[in-house]
Amino acid sequence: MMTDFEKNPRQDVISQLHHFAAVGDAARVKALLSYSPSLVNAATDNGWTALMYGARNGHLEVVQVLLEEGCDRSIVNKSRQTALDIAKFWGYKHIANLLANVKGGQRPNFKECENYFGLTLLDRRSDKRTDSKWLSQKQSHPTTVYILFSNLSPLVTSSGGIESSQQPEVKLCRLSYKDVEQWMKQTEEVTLVFLGVELQFHMNLLSACNGKVLQEVEEDGLVAWFALSVNSAEKYKQEHEDHYFLHPPMPALLQLPEKEAGVVAQARSVLAWHSHYRFCPTCGSATKIVEGGYKKTCLKEDCPSLQGVHNTSYPRVDPVVIMQVIHPDGNHCLLGRQKRFPPGMFTCLAGFVEPGETIEDAVRREVEEEAGIKIGQVQYVSCQPWPMPSSLMIGCLAVAVSTEIKVDKNEIEDACWFTREQVMEVLIKGNQRSFFVPPSQAIAHQLIKKVLHREGNKHPLFKKTNLIILIFK
Ligand code: ZN
Ligand code: MG
Repeated sequence: MMTDFEKNPRQDVISQLHHFAAVGDAARVKALLSYSPSLVNAATDNGWTALMYGARNGHLEVVQVLLEEGCDRSIVNKSRQTALDIAKFWGYKHIANLLANVKGGQRPNFKECENYFGLTLLDRRSDKRTDSKWLSQKQSHPTTVYILFSNLSPLVTSSGGIESSQQPEVKLCRLSYKDVEQWMKQTEEVTLVFLGVELQFHMNLLSACNGKVLQEVEEDGLVAWFALSVNSAEKYKQEHEDHYFLHPPMPALLQLPEKEAGVVAQARSVLAWHSHYRFCPTCGSATKIVEGGYKKTCLKEDCPSLQGVHNTSYPRVDPVVIMQVIHPDGNHCLLGRQKRFPPGMFTCLAGFVEPGETIEDAVRREVEEEAGIKIGQVQYVSCQPWPMPSSLMIGCLAVAVSTEIKVDKNEIEDACWFTREQVMEVLIKGNQRSFFVPPSQAIAHQLIKKVLHREGNKHPLFKKTNLIILIFK
C-alpha cells in the first residue's frame, strides 16, 4: 500500500517542517532545512509558514533558526497576517521584538549557481571510506550500482535519436555486481572507487525524525555506487552492442544528464589521479589504494609520507580562474580564443592559480598576461568542477581599468571587446556566422550570460564600488 509520503514526498516534508516549528524543535527544523533549504518559506493551504508556526507557539529558538536560514519575514497568510502580527497577537513579545528588529531586513537569499558537473545523484558518505566491512558488503550487494570506465571514459548507452527527431539521450550504464564480477577478480588490472550512496534524504531524514532506528549494515537501504576502471572491455562490448565508452571526453561528456555528469566528474578525476600518479611522489615506491579509492599509501616502510598527513596521499584538485572581463563602460566584455578552439569560438579568459596566489590576483595576472588589460575589482560568481582531469573552475567577474588589448600570442590567438548586443545575439540565436561561445554546460557560457542580465552601468560592481571593496578586500 502506498503511504502518503510516497504519494507526495514534498508535501509531507513541509508538514514535518511545520510540525517541528510548531512544537519548538529547533534542531530538527535546522536539520531538515540543511537538506531542503528551498522549503524555508513553504506554506500550507492557509498560507502558514514555518516561521508563523514558530511565532504562534512562542518558540524563540525556532524563529532564530528560520531567520538564520534566510526565511522571508514579510510573507502573509490567508488572514493577511505576518509572523510578526501573529507573535504580537499571541503575546510573545520577545519574538515580536526579534521579528521587528532583525538588522538589514531580509537576509539576501542568494541562490548558489548550479553549473553542469556540479550536480550529483550521490551523497559521498566519506565516513564509509574507512569502514571496510561495510564497503566489502556493499561491493557484492544486489542493489549496488557500478559505472565502468575504460581509459577514463565512462560506459554509456543511448536511446531515441535514430527514429525520433530529438537528440539521442545518453545515459550511464548502471551495472550490477553480476555484470562486473569478471573484472573484480583481476585486482591487478582494475581500480575501484567508492563514489557514495544515492541521495534519498527525504526518506532517511523522515525515518530518523520519526525516531525509527536505522537498521544494521546489510539493510541500511543505502544504494552504493562504485566506479570501476578496467583495462580491457572488448569481450563485454561484444556482448552488449548498444553500450559504448564516451570518447573523447570533450565534448562527449556534455551529453550526460546533469546529475550523472556530476557523478562522472567525481569518478573521472579520482581515477585520473590513480592512473597518473602510480608511484609514491615522496620516495618513488609502489603504493596501495585504501579508503575506498580516496587515499594512496606508500608501501615503503620508512617513507616520510607515512608520518602525518600529506596532500600527496589524496586526490588532487587544480584551481583555475575563469573570468568575464567587463569593459570600464559596462557595455562590452572581453572574450578570447585559443588556437586549438573550433574556428569562430570565443570564450572567457582562464588560467591556473599559482602557488601562494589569491583568486583575485590570479584573475588580474592572467588577464594582464594574456590580453594586456589591467583589472580592478574582482568578484567571485560560481564554480564548476571540470574533470579534464581534475580542475575546479572558479568563475569571476572582473572590471577592466584599461581598454587597449595586447594579445600574448604564446598564450592565446586573439582577444576582442564584444558589445552587449553582439553577445546577446549569439546567446539568443546560437551559432552566428561571425563568432560563437561555448555551450550552456560550460561555466564560461553562464558567466557571459550573467553580464548580459545586468544592465550596463547598473551592474553592482559599478554602482556599489564601496560596498564591493568592503566585501572583497
Ligand atoms: Zn614513499
Ligand atoms: Mg595563462
